[in-house]
Amino acid sequence: MAKLILNFKSKAFGKIKNPKNYLGGKGVNLATMRKLGLPVPPGFTISTKVCDIFYKNKKKLTTKILKEIKKELKFIEKESNKKFGDLKNPLLVSVRSGARISMPGMMDTILNLGLNDKTVLALASKTSNMRFAKDSYRRFIQMYSNVVMGVEGYEFEELIDNYKLTKGVLLDTDLDENDLDGLIKDFKDVVRSKTKKEFPQNVFEQLFEAIGAVFLSWESNRAKVYRKINKIPSDWGTAVNVQSMVFGNMGNDCATGVVFTRNPSDGFNEIYGEYLINAQGEDVVAGTRTPQHITKKNNKNSTAKEKSMEESMPRIFRQLKKILKILEKHYRDMQDVEFTVENNKLWMLQTRSGKRTAKSAVKIAVDMVKSKLISRKEAVLRIDPASLETILHPTLDEKSKINVIGKGLPASPGAASGKVVFTSDEAERLNNMMQDTILVRIETSPEDIHGMHAAKGILTSRGGMTSHAAVIARGMGRPCVSGSSEIDINYDEKIFKVSDLEVKEGDVITIDGSTGRIILGEISTLKPEISGDFLKLMTWADGFRKLKIRTNSETPLDAKTARDFGAEGIGLCRTEHMFFDEERILSVREMILSKTKEDRNKALKKLLPYQKKDFIEIFKIMNGLPVTVRLLDPPLHEFLPKNEKEINDVAKALELPIKEIKSRIGELHEHNPMLGHRGCRLGISFPEIYEMQCKAIFEALIQCKKSKYKSIIPEVMIPLVSSEAEIRIMKKLVNSVAEKVQDEHNIKVDYLVGTMIELPRAAIKAGEIAKHADFFSFGTNDLTQTTFGISRDDSGKFLNDYIENKIFDIDPFISIDDSVGQLIEMASKQGKKQNKKIKLGICGEHGGDPKSINFCSKIGLNYVSCSPYRVPVARLAAAQAQLKK
Ligand code: ADP
Ligand code: MG
Ligand code: MG
Repeated sequence: MAKLILNFKSKAFGKIKNPKNYLGGKGVNLATMRKLGLPVPPGFTISTKVCDIFYKNKKKLTTKILKEIKKELKFIEKESNKKFGDLKNPLLVSVRSGARISMPGMMDTILNLGLNDKTVLALASKTSNMRFAKDSYRRFIQMYSNVVMGVEGYEFEELIDNYKLTKGVLLDTDLDENDLDGLIKDFKDVVRSKTKKEFPQNVFEQLFEAIGAVFLSWESNRAKVYRKINKIPSDWGTAVNVQSMVFGNMGNDCATGVVFTRNPSDGFNEIYGEYLINAQGEDVVAGTRTPQHITKKNNKNSTAKEKSMEESMPRIFRQLKKILKILEKHYRDMQDVEFTVENNKLWMLQTRSGKRTAKSAVKIAVDMVKSKLISRKEAVLRIDPASLETILHPTLDEKSKINVIGKGLPASPGAASGKVVFTSDEAERLNNMMQDTILVRIETSPEDIHGMHAAKGILTSRGGMTSHAAVIARGMGRPCVSGSSEIDINYDEKIFKVSDLEVKEGDVITIDGSTGRIILGEISTLKPEISGDFLKLMTWADGFRKLKIRTNSETPLDAKTARDFGAEGIGLCRTEHMFFDEERILSVREMILSKTKEDRNKALKKLLPYQKKDFIEIFKIMNGLPVTVRLLDPPLHEFLPKNEKEINDVAKALELPIKEIKSRIGELHEHNPMLGHRGCRLGISFPEIYEMQCKAIFEALIQCKKSKYKSIIPEVMIPLVSSEAEIRIMKKLVNSVAEKVQDEHNIKVDYLVGTMIELPRAAIKAGEIAKHADFFSFGTNDLTQTTFGISRDDSGKFLNDYIENKIFDIDPFISIDDSVGQLIEMASKQGKKQNKKIKLGICGEHGGDPKSINFCSKIGLNYVSCSPYRVPVARLAAAQAQLKK
């Protein structure tokens, strides 16, 4: 069995399989940095196994583990030449969480542990720096009491603010020893009154409690929400790192910072970061002080007054730059690095793969291929397909009138408009009502994760490019403008002021996360295009991919967008969408409500030219590619008149009394329309409807053929088939219309007739159905619905409970469930056995879901079809599926 606790220096680090699963990303990377010879403070990692033991042992550390921790601590003492709890030269440590994959800000960390009323004096005399020692102690009390003892952070923040106010200073660093003494006393009083306990003076008690608290933070609410959004299993647990402290708060030759080896926003190959002089790590990420830039260049491009690190600490800057090169070369990826400078000595505290925007991810991958750091294959595999949707986010239409009211940092690109809200709960509430919001906060904290997810964009008045808000927003693909000091937020009055303007809750604003602009009102946006590095990456992906990507679209605009995004045909054109148009709906209603076949035919005749025109437009756009047209599918009552005026209009057109119309509407009522008179059942009852649609298709086709659009192959698709007879009858109908139209125009055309497989019975009888079908298109929405017997429109009420109770890992309407997968696989096999040439594909929401695409590729379908904006996502996912085969 592997050791439960490992020193960073331990050779065993190299021997563990999947070390990150066991020791967490942070611990493994700290050990790796040490191995690379970089300056890392000594420390050890307590494995995720211990987290497991902790939870099984009633949330307590076992005596055996306590003993081992003490033993490992001895090694740190030896290496650092300090002693834990010592009254001459005390060792202080940080206790840091570290899960398998980084969850920035979600888990707890405690710094300066080992201080008490006595060791603080020892630290002061050892360093001859009383102010520093006391600053560290008040920080420690603050963090420990919050994380371990559950005292709310604001209790302490308020006290600090009061001291600053009384003294008339702005920054924490302006508080002196005496102020800090007062704060320490006040902090301890707060702890006593809130917890009825004294702040612990025993350093071992501090250590063990802190370790326990980090384990407990794995089950904190915010960590759970983060896991849910990012689909991280809850049984992974976290590791804990205990590490000797290094101090960035000892004076002006000290600093702390965060730096990316490349720009995380646009991917530019230049280091990008922020630092603070005389501060500890938390100060940079928490956004309490707005940090300064690392490089001269970034400083120049901003309004910053303070010097960059490159200017104020040139030697350390050069050393840091060298180290970043080493790290990038070792990890072959962009790194996000934390460092601290103590009395002009640089220490590395963390490295990990940097979170980045999709745009930056694409540029970095392409650049790394150019510089031969990675292969094309790796580049294609590295990009998260789902993230591409964010590059395809619309950008602001610069031609429209833009009323810029303020500026901040361009923290996460994309434009978003919405109503101003000041709390995460309000963002969530409005999101549930389908309303777009912009979450406006002074700074965000991990508690805001649900609101950031619900909002369309995030705006903060404090914090830099590496603040919590910025990091999380980029990870989620939400546009974000951060650190806009121009805006003044008042939570109580629910307003923010910018110059002399007042913006209230509910007012609509737009933020542009690519430039940092804050704009009043809603602004129209432009469709993005695929070009540059993005185009290059997509071309590489297409080279690897076997699965074809089609699109679901029924309007010329969507079809054009999809083709521009690389769609290789239409996999689903829903003809009923063409019925809802204002001009046509009356004729549709006439058709549905007419009592005789004759009347119905009259109404259908009026509809024919409209459908034909639509098909012509779409065929032209898709010239050279297949177009699957599905005949009318939904239950007819969806088209019925809803109000008196609409009823009157139909009555007039049909020359029938209103009463009669109303009684017809009553007759059409269904108890369970999803399982009612719909799909090919309509074609069986009212063949004239399908005949009209086929006539429109073939006449459109012939008209196109007569002009320059010669190579269109329509695939006529029959919905909701469950038996051989249905498809046989329907196919005959299609063929006979096709023959008639061909004869009339004396032209031969090619076309296919196939069916949707969207009912379990159809999947079971696929062999028989395939006798009459040139293709199967798996309608996975309905197939999921009918396999589970869960109505998609009603599942919202209980799906969450199912996910929470771990009955479903993931919503089966988002990712294909394995039972539905089995039906698809079985039907495909039987279909192919009957008809070797049968074409197989899926349409439905799953067609744009990378996991489902992987499945379709695995079982050898010919294509997937998805909405236009997901076509690039699907292209990349299909390439990755092929590469992983
Ligand atoms: P997170 O995963 O949330 O970034 P970390 O464990 O990295 O949490 O720690 C939070 C902050 O404390 C970081 O800025 C980090 O650099 C700093 N920090 C952690 N350990 C030490 C240490 N041993 N000495 C100085 N600073 C530290
Ligand atoms: Mg960190
Ligand atoms: Mg369907």
